Formats: sequence, C-alpha cells, structure tokens
Amino acid sequence: QAKQQGGNRYVMFDLEFSQRTQAEQRLRERLRVALEADELVLHYQPRVRLADGRLVGAEALVRWPQGDGTLWTPDRFIPLIEQDALIELLGEWAVRTVLRQQHAWRQQGCAVPVAVNIAARHFLRADFVARLQLLLAAAPDVPAGLLEIELVESAALDNLDQAARTIEQLRALGISVAIDDFGMGYASLGYLRRLPVDKVKIDRSFVMRMLDDADDRQVVQAIIGLAHTFGRTVVAEGVEHDGLARALRQMGCDEAQGYGVARPMPMADWPGWVERWRAAPPPWEAPAAVSA
Ligand code: C2E
Ligand code: MG
Ligand code: MG
Ligand code: MG
Repeated sequence: QAKQQGGNRYVMFDLEFSQRTQAEQRLRERLRVALEADELVLHYQPRVRLADGRLVGAEALVRWPQGDGTLWTPDRFIPLIEQDALIELLGEWAVRTVLRQQHAWRQQGCAVPVAVNIAARHFLRADFVARLQLLLAAAPDVPAGLLEIELVESAALDNLDQAARTIEQLRALGISVAIDDFGMGYASLGYLRRLPVDKVKIDRSFVMRMLDDADDRQVVQAIIGLAHTFGRTVVAEGVEHDGLARALRQMGCDEAQGYGVARPMPMADWPGWVERWRAAPPPWEAPAAVSA
C-alpha cells in the first residue's frame, strides 16, 4: 500500500515537472519569436550624479508587451533563459536597439551613455567583443562611449581571467563596464579586485533598507569605501526617495538610480524628461516643503 502510494506520488511529481518544463519551453519559444519579430521594448531609467544632480547616463531595461496590453517585466522571463543561448540573442537585440535609439537621441540633444545588461554566459563568449564591434560598425554615427555594459549575475562568472580580458577590451573601445547588483554574490569582494570595471552598482536590496537597518547601512558604507580604494565609481540603485539620496551623498556615494529620480520610462518619454530634469535642481536639494 505504502509502496503503491509512493509510486503514485512519484508519477504525479513527474507529471507536474514535465508539465512545468513544457510550459517553460513554450514560453521560450514564444520569446524567441517575439525577439525575432522585434516585439520587445526597452524602457530607460536615468542615472544621476549625487554631488550636483547632473544626468550622467541611463539603463536600458527590457519589457515584453503581451497580447492583452500588459507589459511583462524581466523577472517573468529572464530567469527562464539565463542558462540558454536565448539570453545572448536578447543581449544583442538590446545593444542593437540602444544604438538605434542613440542615433535618434543624438539628433534631439538628449543622448547620454546607455547601459545594457549582459548575462555572465553571454559576456564570457570568446567572440563577445568582436560581435559587439560589428554592431557598433553598423551604427557608425554613434560613438562607442554612448554604450555601457552592466555585468549581471556576476556570481556565475566561472572564468575571471576571461572576464577581466573582456573588460579591458571594452574599456579600450571606450565602453564603460559596471558590476551589477554588487553585494549579492558571495564572491563579490575578490571580483572587485580582479575585474577592472569602471563602476560598481550596489544592489537595491541594501540601499532600500539602509535608513532602517544599521547593518545594511554598514554594508553600503563598506562597499563605497572598498570600491573607492580600487578607484571605482559607486552607483546606488533603488534610490526611492530624497532622504536616501541625501544620506548616500553624505556617505560618499557617487551616483544614484531609482524611483526617487525617475521610474524606467518608455523611449517616447525620454526627451521630455531630460529637458525637465536639466531645467530644475535635483529634488534632494530643493528646500523641504513647508507644511501649513
Ligand atoms: P537590474 O539591472 O538591477 O535593474 C534594476 C531593476 O530595479 C529594474 O527592474 C528597475 O525597474 C528596478 N528599480 C529601479 N529603481 C528602483 C527603485 O527605486 N525601487 C525599486 N523597488 N526598484 C527599482 P526590472 O526592469 O524589473 O529589471 C530586473 C532585472 O532584470 C534587472 O535588474 C536585470 O538584472 C534584468 N534585466 C533587465 N533588462 C535586461 C536585459 O535586457 N538583459 C538581461 N540579461 N537582463 C536584463
Ligand atoms: Mg542592471
Ligand atoms: Mg542592478
Ligand atoms: Mg538589482
């Protein structure tokens, strides 16, 4: 009896498992088709300098429009393709799309360097830089310096020497490189020493809790100090309000990105946002509102 039950349970688990993998496989297929049909879109989130509020760049964040009018954020599909060649297709699509966008924004006077998120598996490809150069060559009027790379899930970098060589090649081309979500990977400390990146982006989970949690504040302060020791620029992500921006500036953090500056926005909103931002002082410098 028990054996039979166990057997049934095993069969049920198996069925559930294969149904899930089949659903995931269908989703991957649908994503491949959407990518080839150029149906995905990028939203852009600004990055600003804390000292004076100056706009210094933006990050391109992928969104997948669905038939029902909703937009899927990357957590719905990136985890399914991170170990798959599809993540490389997505990365190259994003670079191509950003370069096309930069062409237009340069003419509108609102181009700033835009960072594309690149997965470890893609970054470690031997031909990563060569293929990037082909994409850049296809956009001759866009300087390479208008493209930046954010290395995501760097904990998955199993070849630090190869990663370091790629970073050096990119920097030689004028392309700045950041380690994304710093603090999350267990090997982060060693990575910072061995990877010659320009920037370190502190994961938003530390930043968002910083004002309520002394431990998180210590982590953030330690990352800032460590990164500066190595001459790297520090970017805080998840800066949701002015209080955080002020605190981070006091702690010596260089740049900020987060809802407190702006949420990621569709490309059509970018020129207007840039114009408004440049016309006004950063919100964290505005005098506190006087309540009646
Ligand atoms: P990430 O690179 O760390 O991007 C920052 C994420 O934090 C974005 O989520 C952004 O919308 C969100 N965010 C920004 N400011 C705030 C804030 O103040 N508060 C809160 N709560 N969240 C904030 P999103 O767009 O959902 O992207 C999630 C992750 O998906 C990214 O994390 C990145 O790792 C990955 N991703 C996005 N686009 C791409 C892509 O084109 N290729 C690859 N490989 N990964 C991507
Ligand atoms: Mg990123
Ligand atoms: Mg990040
Ligand atoms: Mg993050």
